Amino acid sequence: MFRTIDKLDVKGKRVLVRADLNVPAKDGKVTDTTRIDRSADTLKQLAAGGAKVIILTHFGRPKGRDEKYSQKLLLDPLSKAVGKNVGWADDCVGASAAAAVAAMKDGDIVLLENVRFHPEEEKNDPAFAKALAANGDLYVNDAFSTAHRAHASTEGLAHLLPAAAGRLMQAELEALGKALGHPEKPVAAVVGGAKVSTKLDLLGNLVSRVDYLIIGGGMANTFMFAQGMKVGKSLCEKEMADTARSIMEKAKAANCHIVLPVDVVVASEFAENAPNKVVAADAVPDDMMILDAGPAAAEAVIDRLNGCKTLVWNGPMGAFEIAPFDKATNAVAQAAAQRTAQGKLLTVAGGGDTVAALAKAGVDAKFSYVSTAGGAFLEWLEGKTLPGVAALEASAK
Ligand code: AMP
Repeated sequence: MFRTIDKLDVKGKRVLVRADLNVPAKDGKVTDTTRIDRSADTLKQLAAGGAKVIILTHFGRPKGRDEKYSQKLLLDPLSKAVGKNVGWADDCVGASAAAAVAAMKDGDIVLLENVRFHPEEEKNDPAFAKALAANGDLYVNDAFSTAHRAHASTEGLAHLLPAAAGRLMQAELEALGKALGHPEKPVAAVVGGAKVSTKLDLLGNLVSRVDYLIIGGGMANTFMFAQGMKVGKSLCEKEMADTARSIMEKAKAANCHIVLPVDVVVASEFAENAPNKVVAADAVPDDMMILDAGPAAAEAVIDRLNGCKTLVWNGPMGAFEIAPFDKATNAVAQAAAQRTAQGKLLTVAGGGDTVAALAKAGVDAKFSYVSTAGGAFLEWLEGKTLPGVAALEASAK
């Protein structure tokens, strides 16, 4: 278990908050403030509790100090999000950070410059972690999306100061816990996307944890091929057939039911509105490619979900970026959203294209939880230990 900020006595304390404010920007202006807005809760609550709130974050991938990656551009949107002026120091360690922190009053918020201006950050260098810790009495990690990296500000600090999870980190860990840690059964997972080879660890972990593994997208083609079906010109990793078969065997042994599409939508080319037709999964013409699961397949998945209590989702069921090959993804996502609204299904989704696919289906706000954490979410689904989370747990012991 990890501590939450409710358990910290923050009044008058210097609290170092690791946030993920790595937002998209163009021409020196932030173009999407989602991550800033989502971080505001933790910052406001700590400030309201009388803490001196000192924000640590990274922005881009600078190799050492590089003004192109200065975080100054975050100050305006950040001040708006927290409803007060956020102070600034042009380094995260050393004299300027110390001076900015020394000048703070209770309830103030200060942003320190990019932690990645120091290569020691990503090396989790102990001396650098100590220099960061010198400006704080307590440490709050609110950056789940970087928790799969053992860096000084995401992992090292938790060993040096009493540590707690911020609200975003807490929400993410609670959602993931409900989805896979101690889920209400039966549990289904939808795993889609392009390739089996990028999701081997994910599939391997899920077969031992879920009751139904629903495979969609390009990776379903590889599974169909492994079962002896013809897949025509479809995206298919033929060299992964043995691996697909061994995943199916592992699933059988674990009592996990693998669901593959019974029908598919095929077209002659990967293009928007390419002429297409629905065929049975074992009747794909040699000169065509599968671009989506078919309507019967989508219905079968929806039926399955109707008997489930929990759904974990990663990856689209088809080539969702190009109409009309987004139909199966949309149909299943909308059905899952409806069951969620009825209180019958807990829905947790995330990773890469999944957020975009669910947003396109108009359901991203209707799922129980949609993680924007990308790599960290995937590693968690793969059953890996996230160093940032492990360090928080160790600190709570
Ligand atoms: P991933 O990043 O692994 O989740 O894969 C997402 C990508 O898979 C999207 O760009 C989809 O267009 C693509 N995809 C899904 N189904 C298919 C398919 N049947 N054929 C080709 N690409 C697909």
